Amino acid sequence: MPGSIRVGSLLGIPFYINVSWLAIFALVTFYLASEWFPMAHPRWPLELHLLSATVTSLLFFVSIVLHELAHSVVALRLGLPVRSITLFILGGVAQIAREAPHPSGELVMAAAGPLASFALSALFAALWAATRELGDPVQSIAAWLAIQNLILAIFNMLPGFPMDGGRVLRALLWWATGSGRRATAIAVALGRTMALAFIAGGITILVLNRNGAFLGAQIAIVGWFLHMAANGSVRQVRLRDALASYTAGDLMSTGPLSVPMETPVQQVVAEYLTPEALQRGMAVVAGTELRGLVSLHDLNRVPKHQRQSVQVRYAMTPVSQLAMVHPLTPALTVLEEMDARNVNELPVVSGGVLRGIVTRLHLLRPLETKRRFSW
Ligand SMILES: [Zn+2]
Repeated sequence: MPGSIRVGSLLGIPFYINVSWLAIFALVTFYLASEWFPMAHPRWPLELHLLSATVTSLLFFVSIVLHELAHSVVALRLGLPVRSITLFILGGVAQIAREAPHPSGELVMAAAGPLASFALSALFAALWAATRELGDPVQSIAAWLAIQNLILAIFNMLPGFPMDGGRVLRALLWWATGSGRRATAIAVALGRTMALAFIAGGITILVLNRNGAFLGAQIAIVGWFLHMAANGSVRQVRLRDALASYTAGDLMSTGPLSVPMETPVQQVVAEYLTPEALQRGMAVVAGTELRGLVSLHDLNRVPKHQRQSVQVRYAMTPVSQLAMVHPLTPALTVLEEMDARNVNELPVVSGGVLRGIVTRLHLLRPLETKRRFSW
């Protein structure tokens, strides 16, 4: 997500805070300090309102992170890589690199988040009950957090994809019908309908009730976001479907540009640099054997006065440090490998010989030919 700052890691998963989160954190804290706590305790001094609001707000976002962590822990147990957890304006999101391989995995992974929120709600309710004698401010904080975590759990269990509830529904349909594709189609259709209902409902509140303008806008924005998310997941599922029957060898471009490893850097710059090579880099070979890849960036690092004498093999990224795929590697695995390593192309190698290069653009090609298929 653009505008995200890494602030640490949780169970080895990089944890990010998006700048947009500061807005929602400020808003929630402001609401608590100016409405919730003053209404419940009009006699408290301003500082106590502010302090309680900040603590409550922070604990609320910790609760959201715990919800995402619950999804992530199950994902890791299933062997699915979790790329990041990010707090942003609409809550939290865990980026899980792959879909669960079977419906039961999907079911547990999707349900884990709302279950964590239910558990937190129960925990804060117990704290509320236990501190009845102690009194405030702990009790008020616990009460608000118990209610919010309950709302969070229920809201996330709404049965529209890609919300948790929609994923649970999809897993159940997948299990019942045996078809992941049909299950997705139904869950996504429900998700879109729900999103549109949110937008319509939000606008209706906005128009009809002047006091509910803020709530109306909020509901409409959430609906709009859900609609985008539903469309995004359809695109992803389509891409995965389209790629399912291909391998790296089917999609790669063959005859990539290669240069013998003894060639001086100066000569590589003068003779080999084509627009394609500038974009993707060149294979450095010994005969037909791949020894490394060299990019314009690598070449530029060689000082100008040394380019006549230094051979390209000393400027390249050696094979030992390269991610490579085999011609028979499934296209879906290639895509996941690119995502995991944050690269846009991978050399396709078999028997130590470079067979081609596969890029993200190549991976989109099967999608083009299937464009007429729609849900
Ligand atoms: Zn969730």
